[in-house]
Amino acid sequence: MDLIPFRRKLRFARTRVRELKMIGRGLASTGHPILAHIIPIRRCNLSCGYCNEYDNFSNPIELGVMFRRIDRLAELGTSIITISGGEPLLHPELDEIIRHIRLRGMIAGMITNGYLLTAARIQSLNRAGLEHLQISIDNVKPDDVSVKSLKVLDQKLELLARHAIFQVNINSVLGSPVHNPEDALAVARRAIGLGFTSTVGILHDHNGQLRPLNDRQQAIFEEIMSWGKRSYSRFNWFEKDVARGLPHEWRCRAGSRYLYICENGLVHYCSQQRGYPAIPLEQYTREHLRHEYSTKKPCAPLCTLQCVQQIGLFDNWRDPQTLPAFKPRPADLAELETECASGKQ
Ligand code: SF4
Ligand code: SF4
Repeated sequence: MDLIPFRRKLRFARTRVRELKMIGRGLASTGHPILAHIIPIRRCNLSCGYCNEYDNFSNPIELGVMFRRIDRLAELGTSIITISGGEPLLHPELDEIIRHIRLRGMIAGMITNGYLLTAARIQSLNRAGLEHLQISIDNVKPDDVSVKSLKVLDQKLELLARHAIFQVNINSVLGSPVHNPEDALAVARRAIGLGFTSTVGILHDHNGQLRPLNDRQQAIFEEIMSWGKRSYSRFNWFEKDVARGLPHEWRCRAGSRYLYICENGLVHYCSQQRGYPAIPLEQYTREHLRHEYSTKKPCAPLCTLQCVQQIGLFDNWRDPQTLPAFKPRPADLAELETECASGKQ
């Protein structure tokens, strides 16, 4: 008997209960991070033309170091940890990292390019306790910009549909590096057809900033956004402004409600604002969380980072930001990265 649909429903129900608690806690208190991205390896097996978040040489971060970072995030009261990269599946002890996140009571998610997924790998992610997985698919056929294509990844999606008991979200993309915007429709349709949720992202430039969509891209964007219940796109309504090239009114709580922990263990605002504030996680305190909660980010109006904007929904309605943004400290940053790389942090 195929137990996967039953096990999937069970894990979904449990995760949903935990998510409801996370939402209640996030609304009741502003003093803890809701979501943290952690990077267990910066290396990637692909080299997408628009990406500034990978290299092709670095080693996985040692398991004990990852455990300490996860423990620190738990102490700060973090609700969700999403493992990102680079390509997290290149980390040889990824399952242990996921187990530790769950052990510390946090929701465990992962962003992957999906290339290394096999039936056995998906089953081991099930056992480790993974709760969410996201794959971004950039086109229908591989091109000079990206090989994260439906043609290559469709067999991986079928494996996920057959074996995964965690939630799967497929993100399609629009924007200038995408040659054929109709591909986003094909990707979103396939995702929904396989029973996954679907989002559509707008590719940002190297500073996480806006590239407005043309008329054709906008029409496709609106169509995907209009697809009802099976699509998480309905939570990304702020992207309508982004798609039209309009500044968006919101309060970025990066460094507080959202944390980006790089492979060196430094806390940054997000993947596109690395270097600010660049404080080692071990030294990151509730005072830093409070400070960044109230810090106005000058890049907010044209930001395209979906996950940080979704976290912003918890607090956009309260507590206007009054503090000026953190000033970059390039000399200090270089020093800190050297210290972290040499294992002092
Ligand atoms: S797969 Fe992801 S991390 Fe790797 S190069 Fe592409 S966008 Fe960057
Ligand atoms: S607004 Fe926030 S999430 Fe967006 S680029 Fe700036 S710091 Fe990052």
